[in-house]
Amino acid sequence: MHRHRVIKIKAGLAAVGFLFITLIPMWGALHVWLNQERALIERAASNDAMNLAIAFEVHVQSVVRFVDVLIQDLREHVVQDQGGFQDVVKEELERYRDMVAQVSVISKNGNLAYSSLNSVTGVIDLSGREHFRVHSENPLDDKLFISKPVFGRVSGIWSIQFTRPLIVHGKFSGVIVVSVPTAFFSDFYSKINVGNNGLIALVGLDRVPRAVASKKYVDIRMDESLPDRDLPYFDISKPAEGLYRGVSFFDGSESLTAYRRQENSGLIAMVKLSPSDYLASYYKQENILYGSALVVSLFLLAFSCLIYFVALQHLRSTKELKHAYGLLQERVNIDSLTGALSRGCFLEKLDKEFGEFLIAGGKLSFILLDIDYFKKVNDIYGHPIGDLVLKQVVSLCCSGLRDSDSFGRLGGEEFGIILAQTDGDSATAVAEKLRMAIESFCILTSRGPIRVTVSLGVAFALSVGDSASKLISRADDALYCAKRAGRNRVSCTFCS
Ligand code: GH3
Ligand code: MG
Ligand code: MG
Repeated sequence: MHRHRVIKIKAGLAAVGFLFITLIPMWGALHVWLNQERALIERAASNDAMNLAIAFEVHVQSVVRFVDVLIQDLREHVVQDQGGFQDVVKEELERYRDMVAQVSVISKNGNLAYSSLNSVTGVIDLSGREHFRVHSENPLDDKLFISKPVFGRVSGIWSIQFTRPLIVHGKFSGVIVVSVPTAFFSDFYSKINVGNNGLIALVGLDRVPRAVASKKYVDIRMDESLPDRDLPYFDISKPAEGLYRGVSFFDGSESLTAYRRQENSGLIAMVKLSPSDYLASYYKQENILYGSALVVSLFLLAFSCLIYFVALQHLRSTKELKHAYGLLQERVNIDSLTGALSRGCFLEKLDKEFGEFLIAGGKLSFILLDIDYFKKVNDIYGHPIGDLVLKQVVSLCCSGLRDSDSFGRLGGEEFGIILAQTDGDSATAVAEKLRMAIESFCILTSRGPIRVTVSLGVAFALSVGDSASKLISRADDALYCAKRAGRNRVSCTFCS
């Protein structure tokens, strides 16, 4: 039972090992490759976003510069020549129709003094407008101000107000306003492809978007500031340009945003790309590859099952083969009747021991043992009793020998004993001990007790000119002597 489990575990290990050496490298390589691919795409998207943001920033800068030059030019006309001013405005509006929606002048009291759209009738109070307040509160600070988008009461469109104060003789005397429609920016940027979920936006440091261009509808109110979150674009302690990966405040989606902050104009150019756009083909490829890897894995799993069953079969048959070989070897090496070594195995052992004796030196003795008048035992008690006597004699001899000694059946009722590291005298003593043990042993059989005696011939190996067969031959001679001398005795070639 335990062996069966061991075989199953081995077969299972082979199958699992196969899965390990195939699946782990395959999935590992796939994972690494996809990660590298993704990193390349992310890098390319970052570069694209930043390049667009640079182009966007340059465009914004040039528009701001241009509008500022226009304001300063118009302001000179306002200050110097009221009548000529309106003609100049008309001329400029004609020329820059797309960019300039309206030119207006606010008086120092905050009332609309001039609008290029309509002639001013009645009092239109604009003193509450941020751009008026900025200039009226800092009357001598001649700085360009860019407002949040405002919905024009006269124009009816969203526009960004570019303003400068009117200063006459060192005194604040109103504000000149050039309105640039937010559409001027958004129409231009919407022509640039930033993907279905991407957008280009111009946002003030006040977090109020000035213009947003996107393929998708983005619900952003131009007069409301974006959520107050810790974002690097608005943080002036952070670098003025960079990339931000995270949740976009425009639509709450995970995005890659390249931004460039212009500290002087207070505007931030932003290009937001969505991973769902620029990674779309990567995700498709990833799905196909993972799907294929899954199919291959299932095949490998099926194959590993096959390996398991083949290995199980192989291990079982190997085990059976080993077992059969063991049995066969036992049958060949062990005498089936007595349990002593078989003749072939015994002689092989003697050859080996003799070889070792020749190389290493030391001592080696050999005894031949023959049961006396055994034929008579068979004749009187029958062959089966004879077999029993043979077994008992072998058992008695084996119990009287050391583990290092070898006992073999050379044929019939004749046996050999190899005594390693034993000289002739000691071997003779062993032979005598065996002889006495057998002589005094009563074998109980169904036909009554039987006693037998044995004759033994002892020989010891010589270090010069000797061989295993010569050793056997000398022991045989000694046995013959013992028999001739009357049996039930020990004889040796070296004793007189
Ligand atoms: P000695 O004292 O001269 O050895 O006389 P012996 O009778 O023992 O010698 P012999 O060689 O004449 O007889 C040996 C007998 O051993 C002959 C054979 O029947 C018997 N024998 C040989 N092998 C077996 C065996 O496996 N079983 C049995 N029961 N008898 C066997
Ligand atoms: Mg005999
Ligand atoms: Mg014999």
